[in-house]
Amino acid sequence: MIIEKERKFEHISYSAKEILLLIGFFTVLTTLILALNPLATSTTPATANTAITPILRTVQLTKPLVDPANTIIRTTYDSNGNPPTAPGLAMKARVFTAEPEKIVYITIDDGPYPQNTPHLLEVLKKENVKVTFFDIGRQIEQFPSLLKAEYEQGHSIGNHSYSHNYNSLYQSPEAFLTDIQKNDDLIFKVIGIHPKIIRAPGGTSCFNINYYNLLDANDYMAFDWNLDTKDTDGNFSVQQIVDNVDKQIGNKHKIILLMHDLPNKASSTNALPIIIKHLKEKGYSFGTLSPQIMPITFPEGFRKK
Ligand SMILES: [Zn+2]
Repeated sequence: MIIEKERKFEHISYSAKEILLLIGFFTVLTTLILALNPLATSTTPATANTAITPILRTVQLTKPLVDPANTIIRTTYDSNGNPPTAPGLAMKARVFTAEPEKIVYITIDDGPYPQNTPHLLEVLKKENVKVTFFDIGRQIEQFPSLLKAEYEQGHSIGNHSYSHNYNSLYQSPEAFLTDIQKNDDLIFKVIGIHPKIIRAPGGTSCFNINYYNLLDANDYMAFDWNLDTKDTDGNFSVQQIVDNVDKQIGNKHKIILLMHDLPNKASSTNALPIIIKHLKEKGYSFGTLSPQIMPITFPEGFRKK
């Protein structure tokens, strides 16, 4: 009996060795092919549009692509739409729309809420400005008619996750994606679109390389911001919110502005007409986010394995 077990064990060890050798052989072969093939480093539209099944995605991410130690980290797309670069990063190239010289994308996170969103929509209608709402699934579930109203008024709709729960979202890239997809399905049920633009709760500084890869493989694009109204830092007055914005405009050509339509953020909504006025005086026009707009992304996540 014992002998039989030992034999069995020997047999298994031997097979494992064989498998390891085979994996090693194919890894070396794949690395060589990728290194020698110039197409492997450029991204063609055909590659960009290739649909990847969920199973393949997972496999792809457990085995990172060519990961030379000397990969230069570039945390933005370049002007030709080539993706950021970092060791292990495998995002696709994109085609972006040309933007005006001075442009602002107002983004409104965490809603919808009946205490604030309807008033905000009225203000935006009066100002004739379109914005991007990054909505949360559990809010949409409660107030689907508010999502509908945002969409029907011509605003852009983005995905800010279903739960907005950092503990579950940042457990793993797969957990993050599942939560995003849950909200995606919900938005589709209410307004019949699958938004491809997302805002990570807390921003992409919570990401590592695998988050970008998995989201990109699923065709999602993450947008951070470069101007924060700071309206979640405290209970600011209208004037303080306006001041927070004015101080950060500087020489920026392109602004992605962050604010919230949480129930206690009436001052953000009331500050909006003044913010819009100041930005117009400085020569900015207003746009909405879409996958055709080059994102602004925080650099931190690209440096994390
Ligand atoms: Zn948020």
